[in-house]
Amino acid sequence: MRSLVLIGHGSHLNGESAVAAYRYAELIRARGLFDEVIEGYWKEEPSLRQVLRTTASTDVTVIPMFISEGYFTETVIPRELGLGHQGPVPPEGIARVIGGRTVRYTLPYGVHPGMADVIVARAREVLPELGPDGPADGVETALIVLGHGTTRNENSSRVIYENAERLRAGGLFSEVHALFLDEEPRVTGWADLVRAPRVVIVPFFASEGWHTLETIPEELGLSGVVTPFPDTPHGPQQVHYARPVGTHAAVAEVILHLAEEARGAGGPGGDTERGHEAAWQAFLKLARRGARVGELLVTPELGVFEIRNALDEGRPGGDLMTLVTPEGVRDRVRFTDGGEHRPVHTLRSLPRGWRAVLNEADLRRSVHYTYPAVVEETYAHGCHALRPTPWATTARRQTGIYAKVQRAVPEQVERVAERVCAACLRTRLWAGERLTHSFLDGVPGGIPCAEACTFLVAEVREEVARKKAAAASDD
Ligand code: SF4
Repeated sequence: MRSLVLIGHGSHLNGESAVAAYRYAELIRARGLFDEVIEGYWKEEPSLRQVLRTTASTDVTVIPMFISEGYFTETVIPRELGLGHQGPVPPEGIARVIGGRTVRYTLPYGVHPGMADVIVARAREVLPELGPDGPADGVETALIVLGHGTTRNENSSRVIYENAERLRAGGLFSEVHALFLDEEPRVTGWADLVRAPRVVIVPFFASEGWHTLETIPEELGLSGVVTPFPDTPHGPQQVHYARPVGTHAAVAEVILHLAEEARGAGGPGGDTERGHEAAWQAFLKLARRGARVGELLVTPELGVFEIRNALDEGRPGGDLMTLVTPEGVRDRVRFTDGGEHRPVHTLRSLPRGWRAVLNEADLRRSVHYTYPAVVEETYAHGCHALRPTPWATTARRQTGIYAKVQRAVPEQVERVAERVCAACLRTRLWAGERLTHSFLDGVPGGIPCAEACTFLVAEVREEVARKKAAAASDD
């Protein structure tokens, strides 16, 4: 048995941030090479601290869904997963045994050599003439691999240069340039550098966004997919502007290669993780009788299950939108009724107006999407196997912009927690609260919180910053 975990950044504010990991997880799931594909996030749920517990097997391959190496792939993710590693990840990845699972952590997909093929695939979309040996019409064509670049992290530009080098060696293009938005050589100077009459620009970005949709076209004066430039230092030129590499379906192949190289798909595989299975069997036993988990009502119905918001109990099915897949449930429960993003799923804001009819396997996945890690953590709590992490430990672990939460005094943390956690179903074990009965015992809101979530950490950081700003203005 094998589990694949895709780690995305996620966002407390923007629901779109998680979509790329969901999309690749779906593509890989459809290939059937792994027994399960789970998504985990820094700023959403399941969080990096929770995600390993949500995997069903003892053989877990973890792939960071990032375009280059850097702070998140080398510091944040290894630290939060408990890999006991900080700094550059070796090409063969890192293997550790954590809580009975063999966990293999790889480099981010963006640095895999297979990304050169994704760049070519993107170039072909805007230049169909590009054949297997170069442009079929014989027109000299240059390629610009466009990176964001930042003087703060040389890894960000290294991956662009490496891909440019590979593509130069491939000989499909008469010229290949590595250019950047935020460092030299800048893409705004392309016309001085590029001689070929036809130019393809492929943004080496993880997703479509502000840069790819707005700043790049604006700064370069692009009017669409193809823009003629009649008067440049090298004569008339035509620029073909491609979509970013990170959203191409071929990235799924790169992810699978990475996983194979980490031996996640090539080895014999692991066993069913017993604690995980026991948790879900306990849940299913409850579900077969009918249950409530937080705001969710689970009703057995002629061999299948129906789930809906408990506030919709008794409403005729015809009045509700009927969903039939875990992905449908996932996309519904990620937003409140008002359309707001829900980075913490146990906040009491589960949307209403829907029901899902599911078989047992899909019920498990749907409950996972509705309340990530809740079944596993609640069961572990009942077995005295969920160790709370006090605030001081969580704060000490924070680095980068979050390091300032270490300056928060207990009263400040409590003030913020009272506001944030009041809206949450979970009981703060990390703050010394006690949970004697859980939803597995028939108390719907009985869900443990073993550690302050990143949403609360971010709010504490805001509070510290506000306090500091207020003190400065008093001076
Ligand atoms: Fe909920 Fe507070 Fe725990 Fe976050 S820290 S999961 S808001 S109880």
